[in-house]
This record gives sequence, C-alpha cells and structure tokens, in this order.
Amino acid sequence: MRATESDGVTCSAFSGWCDRPTNFAPALEEEIQCDVAVVGGGLVGMASALRLAERGADVVLLEAGYCGWGGASRNAGYLSNELAGDPQMLRFLYRRRLRNLIHYAEASAQFTEEWIARLGIDCDYEPTGGVNAAVSAGQLRRLEKGARILGDAGADVEFVDGRDFGMPDTFLGGIHLRGGGLLNPGKLASGLRDALLASGVRVFERSAVQKVESDGATVVLSVPGGRVRAERAVLATNAGSRDLAIAPRGIQPVWTNVVETEPIDPDRLEAIGWTTRAGIVTAHTILENYRRTERGTLLFGTRQLEAAPRALGAREPSREVVADLVRGFHERFPSLRYVAPQRAWGGWVAVTSFLPVAGEVAKNVFYAVSCNGHGLAQSPYVGTLLADRLAGDEPHEDLRAVWRPRPPRLPSFALSAPSLKAAWALDRISDRFSRRH
Ligand SMILES: Cc1cc2nc3c(=O)[nH]c(=O)nc-3n(C[C@H](O)[C@H](O)[C@H](O)COP(=O)(O)OP(=O)(O)OC[C@H]3O[C@@H](n4cnc5c(N)ncnc54)[C@H](O)[C@@H]3O)c2cc1C
Repeated sequence: MRATESDGVTCSAFSGWCDRPTNFAPALEEEIQCDVAVVGGGLVGMASALRLAERGADVVLLEAGYCGWGGASRNAGYLSNELAGDPQMLRFLYRRRLRNLIHYAEASAQFTEEWIARLGIDCDYEPTGGVNAAVSAGQLRRLEKGARILGDAGADVEFVDGRDFGMPDTFLGGIHLRGGGLLNPGKLASGLRDALLASGVRVFERSAVQKVESDGATVVLSVPGGRVRAERAVLATNAGSRDLAIAPRGIQPVWTNVVETEPIDPDRLEAIGWTTRAGIVTAHTILENYRRTERGTLLFGTRQLEAAPRALGAREPSREVVADLVRGFHERFPSLRYVAPQRAWGGWVAVTSFLPVAGEVAKNVFYAVSCNGHGLAQSPYVGTLLADRLAGDEPHEDLRAVWRPRPPRLPSFALSAPSLKAAWALDRISDRFSRRH
C-alpha cells in the first residue's frame, strides 16, 4: 500500500480499515451483453447489483479500481440515520419535503442494519445511535432549535445534556439520534465484495467506464478494452460521476480525511467522562467527528474539506490538514495529548445541496449518488430501492422522496478552495470566541 510518514502519522492513499484485495476480478476485454450494467462497485453499486441478481436479472458490474475502493471502505463508520446539513437550513430549503426526507434517512439506517445482518457480514456493528454535539453556547442553542425542528418533522431524536449523555466535558450537549450506530467500513466493504464475487453478478474490476451512450433501446458502456450492451444501466459512481459526460450535472467532489490514534485504555476515556459509545459529530460549518473503535483506538476527522482538482484519483491526506486535525483533537481533549495519532487516510465524497438523489438521467440510464458524506446507511438503501424499481416494482415512497431528474446543486463557488478555506477559518474564529466566553 502506498503510504508516507508525516510527523509520526502514516498517511495512506487507501483506507486504514483494511488491506487491498489480492484476488482481483478480471478486467473487461471483450464485448458482452446483459440486462443491467452497474457502474461503480461502492455501496450503491454493490447493493444494486446484488439485489438485481437476487431478482433474476443478468447483471454486469464495472468498477474502475476494485469493489470497495472508494468511500465504501474509507469512511468513518457512522451508520447515521440523519440527512446531511443543519436542520434549520434543511427546513428553509426543503420545508414541504422535510418529513419525507427524514423518513427516508431513518428507514435507510434501519434497512442497512438489517441488510448487513441478512448478508451475515461481521463488521463490528454497534447500534449506539449518534450525537450532534455543541462545543459552544451558540452551537448548543442552534442544536436545541434543530432538535425541535427534527422532532416536529417526525425524527427520533432528543436534546441531551453532554455530561448526562456520557460525553467528555468539551461537549456541552446536543441532539441524540436514537437510530443507527458505528461499524468498521473496511470489514463491511470486504464482506460485500466477497458476497458480490460469490453471487451471479459478472464483476469486472480495473474497468473504468469512459463513455455511456443510450439510443433509447440499448445502453452502451465503453471501457478501455471492451464494451457492454445493456438494456439498462445504473450509475453508482459517487464523486467519479463528475467525469462521466452522461451523469447529471451538479455533483461536486470534495476530499475529506480521518485520523486514527494508537489504542487507548478505556479507563482513561471514562476518567474524562467519555462513557458513551455513540459517535460524536460537532455542529461546526464543517463538522468534526470523534468516535471510539472496536480496536480500542479513537478516530477523528473532517474539519476541512478540499476542493477537487481536474483529475480525481488516489491521493494521500496532506501533511497540513492532518496536523490541523491533530491540533483540533488536542484542543477538544487536552488531557489526551499523550495519545499518539498513528495513521490517516481520506477519500472523495460527492456533494449536492445536502440532498441524497436518484433519478433517470437519460432513457434507461439511472443514477443514485451523493449522500453528502452520509452514504454509509443511505447508499445501500437507495441502491436496493433503485434495483427493485428496475425489477418492476412501483417506486417505493422513500425512493420517490429523493427522485430528481437532476441533483440540486450548490453554487460552484460554495465548494471552491477559497470558500472551503473561509468556512474553516470561520469555524476557528468561532472556536476562539467560544473559548473566551
Ligand atoms: C474519509 C471519509 C469518511 C466518511 N465518513 C462517513 C461516515 O462516517 N458515514 C457516512 O454515512 N458516510 C461517510 N462517508 C461517505 C460515504 O463513504 C459515501 O457516502 C458512500 O461510500 C457513497 O457510496 P457510493 O456507492 O455512492 O460511492 P463509493 O463507495 O465511493 O463507490 C463509488 C465507486 O465507483 C467507482 N467509480 C467511479 N467512477 C467510475 C467509472 N467511471 N467507472 C467505473 N467505476 C467507477 C469508484 O472507484 C468507487 O469504487 C465518508 C467518506 C469518506 C471519504
């Protein structure tokens, strides 16, 4: 695995949760036909392909790297039952749809918990719920309002005090999301890949789709060495959607990172009041997340998002961003300064204007993408619902909740490098201000 050392932290171009597979599926080097071609072997793609095969379709899956290469194996493991975005902003943007969207997000977490159990994948899942936590009085007031908005729209949440909930002192309180939990994404992605390779799906790895064309009757997908002629196609390409001409416009990739520490004695966490097992996400403009893992380590991440260059691909976290994440960890947990960060990795996530989206982008070409960093629960669900629709079912109400011909997009300046830096700087100013008050 490509990796370099930065101030004692090993920065990896893949995931820290698991190793790369050694048993690659073949690359596509001929012309073949199928009922449904799925592009992308991430959570959406593997879930769709497995479900379509279960429903009797002849399915081909084309993956640019290997199944699980993307966010599927790199994420922080929060199986969250919420939408991305601040509740007040979500209500402002999507007032009439909020109840349906919340239903979709909560059903996603329930579905994915059951789906993992049904597939028999051991990925250290713990149904801990999660908490959106405040590090300042201002954030706490905002979260209290947010809890009311979510509760009024039917979400299973409560507003909690930090200490009563078992959070360390740095967190004053916040919104407890009762559903969902935490898992090891490397184990989940590897288990899914094994299930896929053992299924009837014809899987081709190291087969990046360069072109998708639909003449209304047939969809033709081209990879460097071959072609697939399919009745229908599912684009499950997440951040890579930007580079497929046929994919809906408006999906913007950003890079995000996580850092994992050395193992720490649980008694030391209890000594600082950290007794909850739930994952903690802060209410900053660009969130910070902190969780305990089954391997006894701490994992923390995000705090900065990086704009996408012209070409996406494998890269390591930058030294400056890792140093900033570690600084943030020390600020939140001054008494854990002795805990050494050990490794860091990151990945591309696709962003729209906070909504997960699925739709039909051209005749017989479907897509499901962009859960805005919340796809661990939502991607398997939306992938499965899409497969059921392709298999002939009436569209499920939760699929209808996210169905869009084109994803709603944030203005492109919102995710430009200067805007993302400005958001980070505003968060740091508000941190400094809250320390003084
Ligand atoms: C560091 C990090 C932390 C995260 N933490 C969380 C978290 O804690 N909780 C959460 O809910 N979400 C989290 N996410 C987001 C989550 O991982 C994604 O929402 C989820 O993986 C999306 O699933 P997907 O199937 O759409 O995409 P992916 O899992 O990224 O899969 C897309 C696949 O498509 C392939 N592909 C792309 N283009 C092509 C092409 N042209 N041809 C063939 N194949 C192609 C890619 O190689 C990739 O394997 C995190 C993401 C990152 C990077």
